[in-house]
Amino acid sequence: MADRKRLHYRIQGTVQGVGFRPFVYRLAREGGLGGWVSNTASGVELEVEGEREALLEFEGRLETDKPEHCFFAGLERLELPACGDSKFTIRRSDSNGSRRALVLPDLATCPECLREIFDRRNRRYRYPFTNCTHCGPRYSIIESIPYDRANTTMRGFPLCPHCLEEYNDPGDRRFHAQPLACPRCGPQLASWDEKGAVLEAGEDALQHAVRELSAGRIVAVKGLGGFQLLVDARNQEAVQSLRLRKHRDEKPFALMVATLEDALQLCEISEQESSLLTSPAAPIMLLPRKDKSSVAPGVAPHSPTLGLMLPYTPLHHLLMRELGFPVVATSGNLGEEPILIDEHDALAKLGRIADGFLVHNRPIARPVDDSVVRVLAGKPTLLRRARGYVPLPIRVTQPLDPVLAVGGQLKNCVALAEGRDIFLSQHIGDLTNTAAYERFVATVEDMERLHRITPRQLVCDAHPDYTSTRFAERYGLPLKAVQHHAAHVLGAMAEHGLREPVLGVSWDGTGFGEDRTIWGGEFLLVEHSRYERVAQLRPFPLPGGDRAVLDPRRSAYGLLHALRGPIGLEAPQPILRMLATGFNTPMTSSAGRLFDAVASLLHLSVYNSFEGQAAMQLEYAIRKDPSGAVYPLPLTGRTLDWGPLMEALLADRDAGVQTGVIALRFHRSLVEGIVTVARRMGVPRVVLAGGCFQNKWLIEHCHRRLSDEGFDVYWPQQTPPNDGGIALGQVWSTRCV
Ligand code: ZN
Ligand code: ZN
Ligand code: FE
Repeated sequence: MADRKRLHYRIQGTVQGVGFRPFVYRLAREGGLGGWVSNTASGVELEVEGEREALLEFEGRLETDKPEHCFFAGLERLELPACGDSKFTIRRSDSNGSRRALVLPDLATCPECLREIFDRRNRRYRYPFTNCTHCGPRYSIIESIPYDRANTTMRGFPLCPHCLEEYNDPGDRRFHAQPLACPRCGPQLASWDEKGAVLEAGEDALQHAVRELSAGRIVAVKGLGGFQLLVDARNQEAVQSLRLRKHRDEKPFALMVATLEDALQLCEISEQESSLLTSPAAPIMLLPRKDKSSVAPGVAPHSPTLGLMLPYTPLHHLLMRELGFPVVATSGNLGEEPILIDEHDALAKLGRIADGFLVHNRPIARPVDDSVVRVLAGKPTLLRRARGYVPLPIRVTQPLDPVLAVGGQLKNCVALAEGRDIFLSQHIGDLTNTAAYERFVATVEDMERLHRITPRQLVCDAHPDYTSTRFAERYGLPLKAVQHHAAHVLGAMAEHGLREPVLGVSWDGTGFGEDRTIWGGEFLLVEHSRYERVAQLRPFPLPGGDRAVLDPRRSAYGLLHALRGPIGLEAPQPILRMLATGFNTPMTSSAGRLFDAVASLLHLSVYNSFEGQAAMQLEYAIRKDPSGAVYPLPLTGRTLDWGPLMEALLADRDAGVQTGVIALRFHRSLVEGIVTVARRMGVPRVVLAGGCFQNKWLIEHCHRRLSDEGFDVYWPQQTPPNDGGIALGQVWSTRCV
């Protein structure tokens, strides 16, 4: 007995809801060990007692054989005197802890559960809420930690004897699966008309929705993290009526298809992309489209890509298999408001959009949109970070004091950090919108509670009028303001663990500059714990300021005015007056507005129905040009001067050179301009950040050219390059600048 020991482990990480306790149970039993395991607020604690050899083996396999989605963020071990314990048990959860537990994101239906819902002999045959310890809802149903059924929105569904048996059987795949359910005891479907009258229930409700969708009607479906609006993607008339009712002119809609094979019919999909599509996160992937004929033109007008996702809940699988055709699956919300999660709110707000509702009675704890991923230069890059990724932390190289970063204004996302974990919220939306602002406030509170972090400091954008900035000023804690474009760069530095010095190329639409003008084409050197603007795109006047975001002609007029003066400028009188007097006409170095101006001058875009549309048109217009011609973009002092570029571009246009060729030459020139600045600075690490780098051509060619010149190139991948990544950079500023 001299060789008997007892060990106490405290494990932090994603160890709840992944089948970790049953795994520990089996492992201990196999090794003949006594002891216990328990969920705590901070993760999992366990004790094992037995022979030395068996304990060694146990510890090794604890790390190597752990369940698939399990991730250790910390493991502490303490040796205790043996107490003669030979039985191993799973203890009830202990909620008296102050440390952090990592909550898991929602996970797409696993292959075993999928098999069950299509197996006639299985008791979960066609049950839309089937899940197990490998899959199912997590973040969207958790109300507080520890992660136990009583702390989820499943608390109102007592387990039937059969489910209870599975729940208590350590040998079962559903052992301690908190959202466990079956047709007898779990949530149920219902179909409602647009007034909320119940039409059908259960399988009949599903069939009703299938009939509606097949007939070209719009159905609002309560999914995993909120409502989605579904419509037959082949039916142009139906798609157009969704656009009309949703007031969404041209912004592309995402699609859902039943299987990967169906996806391959529509798009070119690499192995890497298909593994992302079928991953537990199951995001929307932006993919080059193959065949336009089976998808209505109104789905993604003028776009060579489609946003595609696969079913990620049993409900989606059942629906899609019945339908057998691609559907538009877009967020169930109004305009830029957050996605709706409650069926009664949805009825009130979506009643005029949807012809019918497919709902269920499992409450959704918080809205979680579908995430969007695009592979850029071989690297998966999140363009919207939500379902499947949130609330996993971004782990950084150096510890942080507790801090709350409130993000930007558009595509807002907040971040809460302590130690080496930075928790980013799901995508919240545009804070000028009241509903989004309310969600923003709720999210801050929700995150502080869920992650048990009490911030001691706040960080906001330097823009004095951002709603998030005003919120931060009222919060009552020390507040630090960080310049917008610096935050873009710092976010990528945090994510990639980059050491200084770094040259940041921070290109986007709009950000408040230190000189109180509008920045957006900046080159920032981050060094010695500070940053300095070392170069910028040549500024030009923007008649009407923010109004130019949706009206690219204003950028074109401003640019032409800067280039050639007022003589011969054919613009509407009020704009000419603004340009002459400077009234409501700020100066801007924005790269986004430069894209807008060029798209407008090439007649690619008359108006933007969403920010960045003109820039997208310019990217999509690119055609081959064997000549390899580049427009001159000289670096004069600290200014990258687009003057010569624009003269050459306009000459090409007036000589009748193809628009696609001009678009290509313009893009190439920008890449060479960036290379010019990088060479002058000679800093080995270059970060590309800001909304402009959602442009696949731009980022991939910058990457290639800068790499050829010997630079290491990085961009945000775990957060969007757009303002969805601002909060991460704000957090990192407390460490770095
Ligand atoms: Zn499963
Ligand atoms: Zn049951
Ligand atoms: Fe930005």
